[in-house]
This record gives sequence, structure tokens and C-alpha cells, in this order.
Amino acid sequence: MTTPMNNRSLRAGLPGRHFPQHHSVQTPAQSPVQATVQAEMHRNLDKPVCVMKFGGTSVGDASCIARVVEIIRAASQESQVVVVVSAMSGVTNQLVAAATQSEQGQHASVATIFDRIREQHEKAIKILIHSASERDRIDSKMKKLLEDGERFCQGTSMLRELTLRSRDAISGLGERLSAPLVAAALAERGVPSEAIEATELVVTDSCHGGAEPLMDQTGERCEARLRPLLDQNVVPVVTGFIGATEEGVLTTLGRGGSDYSATILGAALQADEVIIWTDVDGLQTSDPRLVEGGCTIPELSYREASDLAYFGAKVLHPKTLRAVMQCGIPLWIRNTFTPERPGTRITPAGQPGAGAVKAVTAIHDVVLINIGGPGMVGVQDVLGRTLRTTAAVRADVLLISQSSSQNDLCLVIPTAVAKITVEALHHEFAHELPHEKAEHITVDPTVAIIAVVGQHMRGVAGAVGRACSALDRENVSIVAIAQGSTECTFSMVVPKGEMKAALVSIHREFQLGNASKGSVAEPATPYPCYQTLPTSNHTEQGK
Ligand code: ADP
Ligand code: ASP
Ligand code: MG
Repeated sequence: MTTPMNNRSLRAGLPGRHFPQHHSVQTPAQSPVQATVQAEMHRNLDKPVCVMKFGGTSVGDASCIARVVEIIRAASQESQVVVVVSAMSGVTNQLVAAATQSEQGQHASVATIFDRIREQHEKAIKILIHSASERDRIDSKMKKLLEDGERFCQGTSMLRELTLRSRDAISGLGERLSAPLVAAALAERGVPSEAIEATELVVTDSCHGGAEPLMDQTGERCEARLRPLLDQNVVPVVTGFIGATEEGVLTTLGRGGSDYSATILGAALQADEVIIWTDVDGLQTSDPRLVEGGCTIPELSYREASDLAYFGAKVLHPKTLRAVMQCGIPLWIRNTFTPERPGTRITPAGQPGAGAVKAVTAIHDVVLINIGGPGMVGVQDVLGRTLRTTAAVRADVLLISQSSSQNDLCLVIPTAVAKITVEALHHEFAHELPHEKAEHITVDPTVAIIAVVGQHMRGVAGAVGRACSALDRENVSIVAIAQGSTECTFSMVVPKGEMKAALVSIHREFQLGNASKGSVAEPATPYPCYQTLPTSNHTEQGK
């Protein structure tokens, strides 16, 4: 584990960082009050830094935000806390719908959406903020943000064109609304806090809808803007999901990207830990919406967690681990609604001696593209050309498989990029297609990928065979199969309609529900504990 001391030492080594010693607290010229203030500040400087991200359901309404405030309040006694928030549950979906409907000129339904979002926030403000002046301040901030959003939609509507830049500006509003609300709720409970827009902190490239952070600039901005607040025990409440280019144009990191925001800030600040607070007890052995009887995995490696996220475990954005891989910061997934439970801990090496298969996951929003035909044998560098083409359109290739005769290459990519990828492939192979060297490029949208994950599968014979037999018993046909040489994950393409049966049968075959139960109680190292809060009637609204 990266201990708090390790990361504090690291931070101390950064240019411009000073860690005063406790014994130098009082100088002869200080009054007792000054001395107390300074002693408190030094005590604060010694605290570990913890980045906590709260997802949409966790900030879904006033009662959820009230629990979030209690979690942050408790944590801020022990740590310097940076909070990252998502939009209130359902809000980003509604904003995306407003953007799309603006392009079609549907003014009335766009206005209804904004009214609904306004109502959702006003209701929460009324319950959470009691000070009249503070309530007015937040109210007028929200009104201004929503007016801006409506103006972006009007512009889109007039042009009948939704640019990627406008789409980001509209869909990124939800976090800009929720951060001031959470910060004000913290202040109400006596926790000094400040809402900060990540456009000030996270510098990204200009790939709208899936921007990548520029970590050097982001690190400098976070040091300059967040560190002084942390040193004064002020909790920054940062908008997840968004960033901005060097020129200041708002970008988004991709749907579900607030998890990534948290690890970006964690890495930028050399934090001691990052906690993703959500609505499940941690990473489960399978998607709880599809497989009953799964359980929380106490500890996973970075590699295992990122493969699970990549193959559809929605609880983590697929890029989340990228930001912390270099610096070894531990990541936790914990439940806002049962904060007394440990959740899942994700570390560079994971849990030694754990079972071979840890989890099974699935991704269904995909298409299978086939490039092939017997004539393909003579065509040069089909694989290289295909992958260069997918890279050029930024299509994530989730799985690729090629027969040895090179006449049948198949790859699976997200549905969202299917159209643009197929067009680009047709363009790339334009010469070969008319001459029937590449006889076809076909698209099959009726498939899903099942991924079986566990880094200790390496060197253990039989896991793939057992999974195939389990699918065979359920009459699930395997369309394609792939395994990397690290043997951490193997994935199988199956018909979409058989995805659930495939998940259930593999989960059962490897006894994932039972196998993990023995080790679920305690992770290898202690976890920060929070008081049990009253149960809430939170819903999965908007998911
Ligand atoms: P948040 O709003 O907190 O970001 P998300 O909805 O993005 O939460 O992710 C949490 C959801 O991910 C859970 O409610 C659960 O239904 C889903 N999920 C899918 N696969 C898994 C898995 N393997 N483990 C845990 N949760 C999963
Ligand atoms: N609010 C954004 C979304 O719904 C980002 C996030 O919640 O992580 O995609
Ligand atoms: Mg999420």
C-alpha cells in the first residue's frame, strides 16, 4: 500500500512544497491565538490527502446530499479532502436529450427539460440551505447557469446543428449545478468549503466528448489552486466530468467520466487515496443488475479493475485507472448508503493468493465488424491498416481476432463509433473492395462481449475450457474468442440475447458468489470507517 507518509514525502519533494515540523510552531513574537491557529495549520498539513468522488445517485436529492456531507465531515477530521461531484442523478441524461432536441428545433420539450432540472435543484436548495443570504446566492448562481444552458440550446436550435463543442457545454452543466449545492450544504454543517469548476484545473486536449487530460499543466493548476485551500482545511468541491482546453474551451471526459476526474485530481495532487463513493458496496463479482448472488470483491489489482471497467463494469469509467497507474495511489469503491462497509480496494498488485477467476462482466453496446473473404490472403498489412483506421477515428477496439489464413479478421467496437468506423474502413479498403480482394466488410449489431477476469489465471490451466463448457451447457454459442498473453482476461463474443445466460452460467461455474464470500469481510489493510447512517430510499432513477 502507498502509505500516507509515502505520498506526503513525495509531495514534500515537489518544487515549492514545504512541510514545517511541529516543533517550529510557536515563535517568540506570536500571540497565543496566532500560535493556536498555526498549530492547527501544521496539524492539517500532516494529514493525508484524500480525493472523494460522489456519483449521481449519491447526490441525487437533498437526503442523499445530507449523507454525503456527513461522510465528508467525518473524513475531513482525518484527511485533507478534495471532493469531486457528478451531476444530480438523471440530470446529464436530460441535458443530452435537451441538446439533441435543440438540434431538431423542439423548443417546447427543451424548455420542459430545463424546468425539470431547475425544480430538482430548487427543491434540494430549499431543504439543504437554511441561511437566506446563502440560499439567494446559490439560487441566482443556478439561474444564471441554467440561462446559459438554455442560450446554448437556442443557438443550436437556430443553426439546426449540434457541434461537439456545444454538446459538451450543454451536457457539462449538471456538475456545474451540483458542485455549488454540495459546497453550500457542507458550509451549512460547519465544513469550510469552496465550489470549483474543473475548467480551472483539468487541462485537456480538444477531443470533445472524450477529452484526455494534459497532466503537467493539470498538476501545476491543482497545486496552485487546490493546495492552498487544503492547507487551510477548506474542502474544495470540484465539478467532475468536465475540463477545458488550454484556451479555456469546456470539454467533457466522456459519459461517466467523473470517476476519471477523481483519479486525475488524485494523481495531480499526489493524493494518498482516491475513494469512488457510489450506490453499490464495491466492485461485484458481476453486474448486480444481471446476476443475482454476486458479492463484493475485497481487493483487486489495477489491471483487474481496469479490465473489468473496460468490459462494462459501469461502476468505474474505463479510463479511471489510467491516471493513477504511474503513481500507485490506492483506489477504493465504497457505498454512500452503507459507509460502514469496506468496499473494494484497488491497488497496483491486488490481493496475493486470491482465487484465479475474480469476476465476469459483459458489454452489450457493441458491434462486430468482419473484414474478409478468401481474396484477402494476398492483400498487404490488413491488420495494420485496419488498426490505423480505427485509431484515426478514435474507435476503441474491445476485441480482435484473426484466423491464421488472414482471410477473416473480426473486431468488436462500441456501437457509438460503428458508423464512422465502417465508413473509414470502406475508404481505407476502397481499392480492394471493387477487385473483390477484400470481399466484405460486414457489421453485426447483435452481439455482446463476455469478459472473465482474474490475474491469477496466469499459469492455471483450464479456465477457458471451463467457461466454454459452461456456455455449452446453456446452449450459448461462441462467435469469437480472445485472450491476451498476460492471461488476466479472456473475452468471448456471444449473441446479445444470450448475454445474461452466459454471465449467470460462468458466474456459477467459477462459484464467484460463494468463493468470494469467504474473504469478503476484511480487506488486507484497514479501511477508514464512517458511522452508519440511516438507510435512505434512494432509487436508481436516471440510470
Ligand atoms: P455513479 O452514479 O455513482 O457513478 P454508476 O451508475 O455509474 O454510479 O455505477 C454504479 C452501478 O454500476 C451500480 O449501481 C451497478 O448497477 C453497476 N455495475 C455494473 N457492473 C458492476 C460491477 N461488476 N460491480 C458493481 N457495480 C456494477
Ligand atoms: N454526469 C456525467 C454522466 O452522467 C458524469 C458522471 O456522472 O460520471 O455521464
Ligand atoms: Mg458512474
